[in-house]
Amino acid sequence: MDLFEYQGKQFFAGYGMPISPGEVAFTVDEAVAAAERLGTPVMVKAQVHTGGRGKAGGVKFAATLDDVREHSGNILGLDISGHVVGRVWIEQASDIAEEYYASFTLDRSAKKHLGMLSVEGGVEIEAVADENPDAIAKIWVDPVDGLDEATTRDWVTAAGLPEAAVEGAVDILGRLYESYVDGDADLVEINPLILTDDGRVHVLDAKVTLDANSVFRHESYAEFDGTQTRDERETAAHAKGLQYVGLDGSVGVIANGAGLAMSTVDVVNQVGGSPANFLDIGGGANADVMAGALEVINNDPAVRSIFINIFGGITRGDEVANGIVEAIGRVDMRSPIVIRLDGTNADEGRAILEPHLSESMHMAPTMLDAARQAVALAGTSRGVVL
Ligand code: GDP
Ligand code: MG
Repeated sequence: MDLFEYQGKQFFAGYGMPISPGEVAFTVDEAVAAAERLGTPVMVKAQVHTGGRGKAGGVKFAATLDDVREHSGNILGLDISGHVVGRVWIEQASDIAEEYYASFTLDRSAKKHLGMLSVEGGVEIEAVADENPDAIAKIWVDPVDGLDEATTRDWVTAAGLPEAAVEGAVDILGRLYESYVDGDADLVEINPLILTDDGRVHVLDAKVTLDANSVFRHESYAEFDGTQTRDERETAAHAKGLQYVGLDGSVGVIANGAGLAMSTVDVVNQVGGSPANFLDIGGGANADVMAGALEVINNDPAVRSIFINIFGGITRGDEVANGIVEAIGRVDMRSPIVIRLDGTNADEGRAILEPHLSESMHMAPTMLDAARQAVALAGTSRGVVL
């Protein structure tokens, strides 16, 4: 669950981190009224679930109320990487002496929390990570031990923060870690964390991703739920009761069982293709469920081919085959389908499918063969030949 910057800042403020006074606005008039209450100069900041707002013209300094009117007029409705700005955050402008970067996230392979801190914060942090990774000081925190102040101080020193910023940074980083653990966050990021002209360390941007599975522990998170940007395909699939996750490739994937669906996504990648989705139709796999799954995939304009991967278990292969035949009769398919059917009653199932095979419906004996064929049909091979 991704928070808007202003929600992230409220989240941080709840753990005692210093943020600038501000107000959210949905219209130009609201933005101007907010700036009047806050006092100029202010920043006008697009609120969208994506980064790089500054570079896209979504973060502007406004010295006067006329500037606020002009900038909020330009920013509201602006498209930033496919996210249309529906609200702006107006906050009192800060005087920046230096910009740092700070974050905590989980390092799964280390089984520890990873803290990152850099004196080269600001809008170019991705370039810093690529070109000058040594400029980012990392610490791995054992979740059982937690993060103590002495370790934090060493980390701040190792990152090369100036003396004037050390106390403030140690305080904020301790609170940032606390917010990350106590708040069940997957990511907390401050970029930039600033040192102001008058020597204060201050939070100027907030990126927070909360673990949606922890909502039951945090009543206040309910308000964030209504502000999530959702993948339209996922909304449609979930309405049909399907376990669907949208991806950005061209091979539509349908499998019965979450484990098999994940393997199917993997094997499509392995043979050089790119999956358009993860979709688990579960154990039943009757014609209704299969037709629903095909509709969802058919409505995804990026899909060029479909890989149906079925392993008959308790649900028999012949039942699934009948479901597929009936479903394909109901849905007007845009893309060719490749089916791999194995497991219980696989021979009976294949015999049912056989008469229906054509240019637009293929069957392959193994998962790997089916993946290769689906990727070839999608015509998007990344050139990896296995
Ligand atoms: P992002 O581009 O989406 O990461 O948005 P940020 O909130 O990080 O803002 C981008 C840049 O705008 C920051 O790195 C700052 O350089 C600048 N900026 C943001 N807020 C202020 C402010 O209060 N005062 C000044 N002078 N610059 C700001
Ligand atoms: Mg930023």
